[in-house]
Amino acid sequence: MPRFFLNEENLTGDTATIVGEDASHIALSLRMAVGNALTLCDNEGYDYHAEILSIARECVTLSVKDKMPSESEPPYRVRLYQCLPKGEKFETVIQKAVECGVCEIIPVQSSRCIAVLKDSAAEKKLTRFNRIAEEACKQSGRGRLVKVTPPVSYREAMRQMAEVETAFLCYENEDGLTLSGFLPREVPCEIAFLVGPEGGLSTDEVAMAKEAGIVSVSLGKRILRTETAAPFVLAILAGKYEL
Ligand code: SAM
Repeated sequence: MPRFFLNEENLTGDTATIVGEDASHIALSLRMAVGNALTLCDNEGYDYHAEILSIARECVTLSVKDKMPSESEPPYRVRLYQCLPKGEKFETVIQKAVECGVCEIIPVQSSRCIAVLKDSAAEKKLTRFNRIAEEACKQSGRGRLVKVTPPVSYREAMRQMAEVETAFLCYENEDGLTLSGFLPREVPCEIAFLVGPEGGLSTDEVAMAKEAGIVSVSLGKRILRTETAAPFVLAILAGKYEL
């Protein structure tokens, strides 16, 4: 069943309104009609079954039938700090990370990033990144929208991650601690992890993580591409705490 995300002003009592692009998508692309059913998400972790009351290309009104907790959110909130990869790889990372349960994606400009997200282009790219995230949320049936934030410096990423209960750096030269060895037995409320760019992290950056109290973990003996590492980690988290 098609799924759409609402903000609180679009949901009053047992009626909801969908406007803008989503409304025209329902009316024109999906060719839905009065009486058809769809799922609404309030972005607070609840889903609503709703039925179309009226439909026009700029506005669709619906009657909300029942409310239930979204079953598709993981039992933890996990933030991915992804050092910006080249080209379209970041779009792949966004899509796969959303499907695998990430809750927020923070692009990081580290020293070896080839790609730079700044100035006027950044605004446009960020809009595109969030559209990709929203599409992946709809496709995978997520209960909360995943946000792609404006980029942060590596230092700022370290500062933010240091405040998270379970935070780690994916580091291929770590030969002691593996991810499985690091993860706590009980499901953590909050998890944050960083993945380096194609050229990896500099020794200074690894040292900065250590100083911030952020543990480096190995994802095994194979070297994963930067766009593989995050889905790989998220799959391990889902396998350990969710499935
Ligand atoms: N130094 C790597 C190389 O020799 O090709 C380049 C970095 S790797 C392509 C991109 C990022 O993925 C790394 O910075 C790291 O964050 C993560 N990564 C890849 N393989 C990993 C592994 N086996 N263990 C931990 N992290 C890994």
